[in-house]
Amino acid sequence: LVVLENVNKHFGDLHVLKDINLTVHEGEVVVVIGPSGSGKSTLCRTINRLENYESGNITIGGRELPHEGKELAKLRADVGMVFQSFNLFSHKTILENVTLGPVKVRKMKPDAAKERAMDLLKRVGVDHQAEKYPAQLSGGQQQRVAIARSLAMEPTVMLFDEPTSALDPEMINEVLDVMTRLAQSGMTMIVVTHEMGFARKAADRVVFMADGAIVEENTPEEFFTNPQSARAKDFLAKIL
Ligand code: ATP
Ligand code: MG
Repeated sequence: LVVLENVNKHFGDLHVLKDINLTVHEGEVVVVIGPSGSGKSTLCRTINRLENYESGNITIGGRELPHEGKELAKLRADVGMVFQSFNLFSHKTILENVTLGPVKVRKMKPDAAKERAMDLLKRVGVDHQAEKYPAQLSGGQQQRVAIARSLAMEPTVMLFDEPTSALDPEMINEVLDVMTRLAQSGMTMIVVTHEMGFARKAADRVVFMADGAIVEENTPEEFFTNPQSARAKDFLAKIL
């Protein structure tokens, strides 16, 4: 579903993505881990073209990434993204946050969008907060709304960039639970996270990045019990 071939990107002199080859199949959950600065966020941002790249090829559902205009807007809508910070519209209610995209971009009827939004908010456990504003919710609740908002666009793939790293410890699990259920429901997901419990439970594959390159790719069982590269062994020794 998502295919990257020999993707290269520089920030000035820094070669931030080095010949990235990655294929994510439909329904697959890929967890990306690696040291700070290894290029994980840049990889996510490149996949939905928040960043340009200089060479290589990225296709989503067999279609090449459009460079601009309407086609790019449509691609962005097909690729859901949840960041570390919640990025909700602060002056809109929770319900409005979730219905805005479907009504504006997908041209859904407001009533239908509202009905679906309430279903999604229920699914992530914040339906009782629908009329509140983001600032009235906890971080974990806001992040679950951010997930519901992405899902409302009916994306073909969801990208998560450290969605729990800004949360207080007691709120991390409620977000990971939502993500685990989403994974089990068959959503195609690319997840940057340091939550190794989630990786073990939900990932089909772990991709380990260091210095802008994919160093190792394996099932979670193999990766965690039997890392191949010195970089991965070193990284795991530090975090486990
Ligand atoms: P972390 O785990 O800390 O989030 P990361 O793996 O997500 O790290 P990136 O944010 O992708 O790493 O950054 C990769 C490298 O690119 C870093 O050295 C960073 O300083 C650099 N970088 C990121 N964004 C830019 C930018 N807009 N301009 C210049 N350099 C950048
Ligand atoms: Mg990052």
